[in-house]
Parts: sequence; C-alpha cells; structure tokens
Amino acid sequence: MTSSLSLAILPGDGIGMEITQPCVELVQQALVQVGEPKAEEKWLEAGAGAYTKLGNALPDDTIAGCRAADAILLAAMGDPSVRYPDGTEIIPQIELRFELELYAGVRPVRSVPGIKGPLADPRGDQLDFVMVRESTEGLFASVGKGSRNEQQATDTQVITRKGTKRVSDFAFKLAQKRKAEGHIGEVTSVDKANVFKSMAFWRDMFDEVAKDYPDITPRYGYVDAVAMEMVRRPWIYDVMVTENMYGDILSDLAAGLIGGLGMAPSADIGDDHAVFQPCHGSAPDIAGSGKANPTAMFLSGAMMLDWLAVEKEHAAYGEAARRLTLAVDNAFRDGTLVSTERGGDAGVDAISAAVTHQLTALA
Ligand code: NAD
Repeated sequence: MTSSLSLAILPGDGIGMEITQPCVELVQQALVQVGEPKAEEKWLEAGAGAYTKLGNALPDDTIAGCRAADAILLAAMGDPSVRYPDGTEIIPQIELRFELELYAGVRPVRSVPGIKGPLADPRGDQLDFVMVRESTEGLFASVGKGSRNEQQATDTQVITRKGTKRVSDFAFKLAQKRKAEGHIGEVTSVDKANVFKSMAFWRDMFDEVAKDYPDITPRYGYVDAVAMEMVRRPWIYDVMVTENMYGDILSDLAAGLIGGLGMAPSADIGDDHAVFQPCHGSAPDIAGSGKANPTAMFLSGAMMLDWLAVEKEHAAYGEAARRLTLAVDNAFRDGTLVSTERGGDAGVDAISAAVTHQLTALA
C-alpha cells in the first residue's frame, strides 16, 4: 500500500461532467481492487462555463492545482457560443498544453473487440498503432498571435529543434516499448517535407533522433498520402509522429477507424506533468441527453494509471490500468453494447454500468 495519488479533475463543459463522474468512479474502483488507497480528488474549474462565470477560462487556481497534482484528468472544454472578441473560441485545454509543456500528444488507435470499424477488410477491426502529435508548437504556435486585416489573415507555423527532437525522441522510445511487446518497431514521420522549409527542418531533426535508435526503423510519409493510407490500409503503421495541426486532423480520422470519437482516448505528456482526456470535444449537441459514449474517457483514465505506474515506479497502478482496459474490452466484446454514436441505444449510464460490472467481475 502506498500513499494516495492526487488527481486534478477538470470536467469542463457540455458532456464533460456526465462522462467524468463515472470515469473517476471506475479509476477509484480499479485502484481499490489492486489494494491501493483511493486517489485524492481535486475538482477544478476551467472551460467556457468558467469563462462565463469568472471571466477566465483557465483560472490561476486551476493551473496551480494541476501543477500540484500527480496527474490531470480532463474531459472536454468549449461552447461554440462562448467566444473571445476576435471570434475564436476559448481553448483552455490547449493553453494547458503550453503552460505545462505537454509536448507529446499520444493518441492510441486500438480497436476494441466487438466494435466493428468502417473498413471492409477484417484487419481494419484489429488496429493497434499510436499517433504522437507534437502539442506545443507547429501551426498552433500561432494561437493568439496571428494577424488579420481587411484583406488577409496569417497564422505562422513554428517548428523548433527542441520541440521536434523531444517529440521524436518520445515516439522512438514508445516504439521500443511496443517492440518489446511484439510490435514491429517503426516510427513514421508524417510531414510535408517536400513543400515547406519548416517541414524539411522537421524531417532533419527526426533523422538526427532516429540515429540514436538503431533498433527502430524510421519511415516517412507525406501527410496527404498518410491520410489516404490510413483509410486504405491503416494496419501498416506502428508509431507515427507528426506536427500539431496534422495530428489534430489525423487523430480524428483515426478515431473514425475505431468506432468514433467516443472510443478514442488520449494523453498529453510532458517531462513533469501529463493530462489525460478523450480526443473528442464537449459535444454540445448531445449534452444533457445521456447519449454520450464515455468509453474514450474511461480509456484515458486507464492511460493515466499506466503512465503513473511508470512515473511512480509502482506496478499496482499498471495492473489497475490493465483491469480497467480489460473491463472496457469485455463490456463490448460480444457486440451487444452499441453506443448511440454507432446507431445503438447505449449512452453514459448503460456503458458505465456495463464497464463497472465487468471491472467488478475481475476482482
Ligand atoms: P465534438 O468532438 O464535441 O463533437 C463532434 C461530434 O461527435 C458531435 O456530433 C458529437 O455529438 C459527437 N461526439 C463527440 N464526443 C462524443 C461522445 N463521447 N459520445 C457520442 N458522441 C460524441 O467536436 P465539435 O462539435 O467540433 O466541438 C464542440 C465543442 O468542443 C467546441 O466548443 C470545440 O471547440 C470543443 N472541442 C474541445 C476539445 C477538447 O476539449 N479537447 C476538442 C475538440 C473540440
């Protein structure tokens, strides 16, 4: 038994609270099941609701609470009707990545058994690759800085040596870990090095890092061609690493391959902090209806436990992660639990109950 973990919990807006509550309960249940004390929960305000109420989408207290916690669990933020005077939306979930230097956006693309993907080829239902999205620069370096006048608007992409090397390094280390688990051991740089100076620079940095990992094969793909391959034969990929905006777009495409945004978890990882959150947004169109699929949030909770196992060098957290992931897989395995986004009738309550039942069965 160790001392309890401290979790910063940011439910945010829209369906955020609906999916966060059952996720935290499952994380706590998994911890208790492996003999750990329950985590200490610090629920913090951020998002469009916080902006409307406090005039600040990411209050200082929330940032301080995130910094002090062992890990950060975030649902989703944003409300298209809440905007800054320049027309852009509040984006505290992105500001937090800059604030805490969360440079590696990890988007696992793993098929959950029992969830049929959109591809006819059966290999499309057994996907297991990871997209690593650079999360602190690229085109997003322009957030809050672009220019606009009556005739034109500009946003500038920034690619740095430090930013590209650290995210590439992360991707190669991840490929090594996966190779030890039986994967092929490749990292694909997804870029546009044929057209942009910034992207040619990215590829040079990627190649410099690749030299440190002779056991891992570096591969290359232009982002447009990769988008096509992700639809044609996504099973060829192991780990891919890409610029922020490309990753933003391709990770939603990837979510479509594994059953929709409600199935796609993610982590934003830095050297000192990490945020775990589903890939989707606050889904205002279904907020309050009970129709949301909380699975991506649950799998993000499992990713958090897995990361904590390494960070705290404490295997029990890894076992809690394994059980939570298995409980999700077992809930969907026979194909009868079908979320509303896939045309079924299972929403937050039904899916939460099914996963809780399966986790209990693993005790
Ligand atoms: P969205 O991901 O919220 O929704 C896109 C579509 O997917 C909607 O039809 C929605 O109902 C559906 N969907 C999303 N998550 C679902 C789930 N768990 N279960 C079932 N269906 C789900 O994207 P959007 O509509 O473009 O944006 C809505 C708001 O979220 C905006 O304010 C946007 O800025 C914000 N946003 C936030 C994040 C984040 O917090 N990380 C990410 C993307 C968008």
